[in-house]
Amino acid sequence: MRVILAGPRGFCAGVNMAIQSLETAIQRFGTPIYVYHEIVHNKWVVDRFRRLGVVFVDDLNEVPEGAHLMYSAHGVHPGIRRQAAQRRLRTIDATCPLVTKVHREAIRFAREGYSIILIGHQGHDEVIGTMGEAARSILLVGRAEEVDTLNVPDPDKVAYLTQTTLSLADAAEIVRRLRRRFPNIVGPPKDDICYATQNRQEAVRQLSARADLVLVVGSRNSSNSQRLTEIARDQGVDARLIDGPADMDPAWFTGIETVLITAGASAPEELVAGCVRWLEERFPTDVEPATVCVEDVHFALASELR
Ligand code: SF4
Repeated sequence: MRVILAGPRGFCAGVNMAIQSLETAIQRFGTPIYVYHEIVHNKWVVDRFRRLGVVFVDDLNEVPEGAHLMYSAHGVHPGIRRQAAQRRLRTIDATCPLVTKVHREAIRFAREGYSIILIGHQGHDEVIGTMGEAARSILLVGRAEEVDTLNVPDPDKVAYLTQTTLSLADAAEIVRRLRRRFPNIVGPPKDDICYATQNRQEAVRQLSARADLVLVVGSRNSSNSQRLTEIARDQGVDARLIDGPADMDPAWFTGIETVLITAGASAPEELVAGCVRWLEERFPTDVEPATVCVEDVHFALASELR
């Protein structure tokens, strides 16, 4: 069996920064240390930190006054920052700078009087945070059809932003529809869909034609991992989203000659290596790394830890 390892795959600069920030905070302040929501959307990473004494909370009332609280890579609603200040929590902000960029754009467009259309998925942590920055000016659109029913006070004063981890093709279709409906719409100065999302999608788009099956290593609540699975299926290739080798089933590989393996931006390389080992233990396997572009992006630790 040929195993193609898609590159780039796995951890992005924002996830690396958030994980290193949490590791540094544990060393410096000890545990328990609290994190609002999952530090990144990956079960393996979250379980590992739980074993180290990290407590993940969905409600700040669960955090004792004065304790250390970290914000996850997806960012938070400004109301959470206010609540943390009231409870005198010692906060550490591990929001990815590329998410913070979208928050800043939302604040700027709202200040300039625009109605903002945010393209994204309802209920995603990042979307909740971005919408909170301009709650009175922002409307969420998840599908192209929803553009037709949007209601804005001034159709000539509309701006759009996007979640960082969307499918490029889906977002482009929604933007096309928005431009038809609001010809004067303005967008962000630089693409909101982040470099890591774009590169991982491009690798799957280019490489999946060579595969009979695509394995995407990532958790179900990881938006960018879900998108990688959809992109492979859109190319007509069977694709499965798995947390790791424990999810793999020998029956999937009957008649399969080539498997493409990729990983979402929050999925650790250990799990990819585990999937390759799982295949090697069962089939004569030939592993081929295939990198469509090289990334060189790094973010500094959360400012409170520098
Ligand atoms: S996927 Fe993109 S926006 Fe999200 S943490 Fe990684 S680099 Fe930042």
